[in-house]
Amino acid sequence: MPEISYGFIGLGNMGGPMCANLCNASILPTVFDAAGTAERAPEGATVGADITAVVAAADTVFLSLPDGPVVAEVCAAIIGAPGRRVSTIVDFSTTGPEAAAETGACLSDAGITFLDAPVSGGRAGAIAGTLTVIASGPAETFEALAAPFDAVGGNVFHVGPEPGQAQTVKLLNNFLSATAMAATSEAVLFGLSKGVAMETILDVVNVSTGRNTASMDKFPNRVASETFDAGFAMALMTKDVRLYLEEVRKAGVPHAVGGAVTGLWDGADTVMPGADFTEIYRHIQAGGET
Ligand code: NAD
Repeated sequence: MPEISYGFIGLGNMGGPMCANLCNASILPTVFDAAGTAERAPEGATVGADITAVVAAADTVFLSLPDGPVVAEVCAAIIGAPGRRVSTIVDFSTTGPEAAAETGACLSDAGITFLDAPVSGGRAGAIAGTLTVIASGPAETFEALAAPFDAVGGNVFHVGPEPGQAQTVKLLNNFLSATAMAATSEAVLFGLSKGVAMETILDVVNVSTGRNTASMDKFPNRVASETFDAGFAMALMTKDVRLYLEEVRKAGVPHAVGGAVTGLWDGADTVMPGADFTEIYRHIQAGGET
């Protein structure tokens, strides 16, 4: 069987270290990032001049892009690229179920197979190669990607045959993560107002029933240290909870908590452009003023 060649478009907080882990596993893609490829390309990757160069060199191309509209724009460029070799697109971005279904349909019309494959685990998980990969699309395409998925992920799931199903699971996961971050901020501020130290609050909660991803990871490592450096933009988390709320409304399922949490993130994102998502704590601490 001829060897498969790979491409990677979008070398940001997640795509950069994921691509580096592919290279560490001797999967050496041709890469491109609109903000500058040479300075973001990991050792071993081939710098592509543009999207056309990537899809002319690669059979399978991974995407790690900010949102659905950017993925749609890049896929349109891929479909229109002269001399394209690519036959499979794997999208690691969080775009939402509707966008993923549309992307899958457009690519399918152009004869390209699509695997929807958002990830969870943050920049730290991307660097460590321990991400959760949540994939949906054709089972045989998923199975053929075992080597690259093992290189970037610790837990790899195929959740269904249709693009968009993986986005559904990713969005509900991020809604839970966003809720944990917002609720833990409020709970910690309550404890502080009564004179209990943050470290003490976290020590107790983290061996008790209230523990969660924010209390166990984000608070000890990013908030208590005041570094606020998780490497996940507040704008991107706000995009995710908005998409979640849109989808649960369309699905007609309960969303009382979803509405409240999305309102909080929307408010924070409006007044804190460029912030890390862990800075929701500062926003809630300031009573919504920062
Ligand atoms: P990022 O903004 O750091 O990276 C996106 C990269 O895409 C940037 O380097 C940007 O220059 C590039 N890009 C934008 N438009 C492009 C185009 N038209 N052509 C080529 N390159 C282009 O974002 P990120 O934090 O790496 O997140 C990427 C995706 O993964 C998002 O969908 C995000 O929601 C999701 N995600 C992020 C995290 C996290 O913790 N950061 C975790 C899980 C999932």
